[in-house]
Amino acid sequence: MIPYGKHQIENDDIEAVVDVLENQFITQGLQVPAFEEALTKYTGAAYALAVNSATSALHVACKALNVGPGDWVWTTPITFVATANAARFCGAQVDFVDIEPSSRNICAKALLKKLIQAEHAGTLPKVLIAVHFAGASCDMQTLKTLCDQYGVKLIEDACHALGGDYQNHKIGSCRFSDFTIFSFHPVKSITTGEGGAVLSNSEALIKKAALFAKHGVTKDPELLETPLDGPWSYQQVELGFNYRMSDLQAALGISQLNKLNAFIARRRHKAFVYHGLLADLPIQLPNADMLEQSAWHLYAIEVDAQQRLPLYEHLWQHGVQVNVHYSPVHLQPYYRRLGFSEGDFPHAEAYAAKTLTLPLFPAMTDAEQNAVANALRSWYQ
Ligand SMILES: *Cc1c(COP(=O)(O)O)cnc(C)c1O
Repeated sequence: MIPYGKHQIENDDIEAVVDVLENQFITQGLQVPAFEEALTKYTGAAYALAVNSATSALHVACKALNVGPGDWVWTTPITFVATANAARFCGAQVDFVDIEPSSRNICAKALLKKLIQAEHAGTLPKVLIAVHFAGASCDMQTLKTLCDQYGVKLIEDACHALGGDYQNHKIGSCRFSDFTIFSFHPVKSITTGEGGAVLSNSEALIKKAALFAKHGVTKDPELLETPLDGPWSYQQVELGFNYRMSDLQAALGISQLNKLNAFIARRRHKAFVYHGLLADLPIQLPNADMLEQSAWHLYAIEVDAQQRLPLYEHLWQHGVQVNVHYSPVHLQPYYRRLGFSEGDFPHAEAYAAKTLTLPLFPAMTDAEQNAVANALRSWYQ
């Protein structure tokens, strides 16, 4: 069986974790700050905060931007539910912006149109969460220009895109955003088991995100409301959460981050090979423009909507565990209850009806990749 995604753990990763287990601290020692530092070095962002998942990271990023009841947060329907849920955790209302079919990312034209309408209605969003679908960056320059024009804060959900590039900078540099979010779930670019990170170029914003990730408790003189009553003391100044990453996870993260460029090179090569192997089949391949920039988290093809289910079954019968990313978030039962329905975001819905994610991961062998291509070919012959 060939899975759609898979982590790669080697002996040095295992040793890094065992080292921590044999040391004094397994949760709050030196590994978490070292991993955070390594993330800033890799991406070029000024600050990083490691947390226990990207879902937590999205939540504290929204909290740090003061998202709350009465606010709107916009995102794309073609993402994992956690992107939209983070705004709901804060009590905010969620709306979506349709995708641009070839990039599958938020459409800047649709965004502008919606911003103009929202300005008239007095419902401009506080935050836009842009998702770099499959690992290829959104048009951040345009999104940032529009967000600045309308006073909207910008979060990059880069859970698919660690290791990818945009305009000769690493995704995560936060050059066009207030925060960038990464996930270290095992199917993502690198893994810490479960884990995530928030990056920012603003010291004030990252401090605020850290406050919410650590119970709202602080000793930082700038955040205290009154002087501490002793060196033993701390103050809870916000209602925060326990979203800390452990040293065990961070040690694995450091070890994995050293291999990230090699992993991404493998992913890019595999994507390039798929483009060649599948070029003559009647399927829509992902946009080749981003071949050298994307982190290639997913290799998502589009097939005839009527044939998708039988093709899915055919591929699984041939040991190829294709998947679907994603059913549009606005059509999930929870979001339907909030008033969304079919037809709200037609490009996202059309894409979601046609897409299949082919297996792609760094350790995938040439034989496995040929098996995927042959299984697809056998359907069309
Ligand atoms: C994986 C993923 C998340 C959630 O990440 P976790 O670390 O599992 O919480 C959020 N957004 C996107 C786009 C993802 O792919």
